[in-house]
Amino acid sequence: MSRSEILFNDAQKHIPGGVNSPVRAFKGVGGTPLFFKHAEGAYVIDEDDKRYVDYVGSWGPMILGHSHPEVLDAVRRQLEHGLSYGAPTALETEMADLICSLVPSMDMVRMVSSGTEATMSAIRLARGYTGRDTIIKFEGCYHGHSDSLLVKAGSGALTLGVPSSPGVPAAFATHTLTLPYNDLGAVKAALAEVGQEIACIIVEPVAGNMNCVPPAPGFLEGLRQQCDQHGIVLIFDEVMTGFRVALGGAQAYYKITPDLSTFGKIVGGGMPVGCFGGKRAIMEFIAPLGPVYQAGTLSGNPLAMAAGLATLKLISRPGFHQELGEYTSQLLQGLQERADAAGIPFVTTQVGAMFGLYFSGADDIVTFQDVMASDAERFKRFFHLMLEGGIYLAPSAFEAGFTSIAHGATELQTTLDAAEHAFAQLKQ
Ligand code: PLP
Repeated sequence: MSRSEILFNDAQKHIPGGVNSPVRAFKGVGGTPLFFKHAEGAYVIDEDDKRYVDYVGSWGPMILGHSHPEVLDAVRRQLEHGLSYGAPTALETEMADLICSLVPSMDMVRMVSSGTEATMSAIRLARGYTGRDTIIKFEGCYHGHSDSLLVKAGSGALTLGVPSSPGVPAAFATHTLTLPYNDLGAVKAALAEVGQEIACIIVEPVAGNMNCVPPAPGFLEGLRQQCDQHGIVLIFDEVMTGFRVALGGAQAYYKITPDLSTFGKIVGGGMPVGCFGGKRAIMEFIAPLGPVYQAGTLSGNPLAMAAGLATLKLISRPGFHQELGEYTSQLLQGLQERADAAGIPFVTTQVGAMFGLYFSGADDIVTFQDVMASDAERFKRFFHLMLEGGIYLAPSAFEAGFTSIAHGATELQTTLDAAEHAFAQLKQ
């Protein structure tokens, strides 16, 4: 038995399913999850001392690679001054100023401790601001696990086959309208009927929780226009795309300005952080300025701010995102060539340092149905073959992949060699 198998058996005694977040359990691909004990640069190292090139990056935050020395130093320096005060710090103002300077739509920002908190709070704010109850989300998009948002959701909910979770009261779910992603016609039709009742449209500007589906041309522009027309708050959930697809997020990449945005992952540099923000007139509705309540004991935690600030500063250097995007393109091109050579139907998607792999004969991946029509069984085999070859992909056919600046020529070659072998095996 491997150490991971022993540890997984032990973990299941007191932890439901042996994990503290469902997708980690490998239910989507079968087998035993790896237990990690160390991570450095582009690599994660498991409890059996095997090294893997990591394309999960803690599900997004580790854009600099793991254990970046300057980020660790920033945390160490802050550590000397205590862990949490529950009172304002200069670090929080520095963080707010930096985020507002990097993200086009942000006039004001509130820090929280997770992406879930960020989206949940942004939706409450949109409801409070508009005085309307109903929200629109898109099928296969995941915005964290708060009640209103666990309706036809992506990520682990999709992997485990429970996109609409038991435990969410039907009365809550009736206030969430779910429409097909990339279908502006469906949005227009819905708003023509109930536009007056909609508080907000929340969207992943690049869908990353049903694998990776870029927005169709005109989709985000159309949402902006429709929201303006109907007095609806447009929320870009940039928890995944923020600071990744471009320094200013998907809103900078696609040049669309949402009313509110939510962030997580990279903004905390690997610590538990999220934030939401946007237009001043809307943000002034938040307590203590306004009536919409929102709070958090550990919000703006100094250690987390130190890690996040160090990360944001390092990724602000000119050329950073271009380099990342180039590595990602080379990776996808190399994979495509090897799949083609092996005669395996295979499609990839990419926006900057975010990518999707599909075992599919489709020309392109645009809709939730396109995603569901890809061969998830083949992905499972591919996943395990890549794992054997020292490559750690997300353990689900419904998750985006992430690259980091620590990935270079060596990691590229290792990945492509493993893939060549995997595609040949899949053929048999
Ligand atoms: N929104 C998006 C787009 C996400 O990808 C995620 C998590 O993956 C969340 C929200 C929830 O963030 P968290 O897991 O930090 O609560």
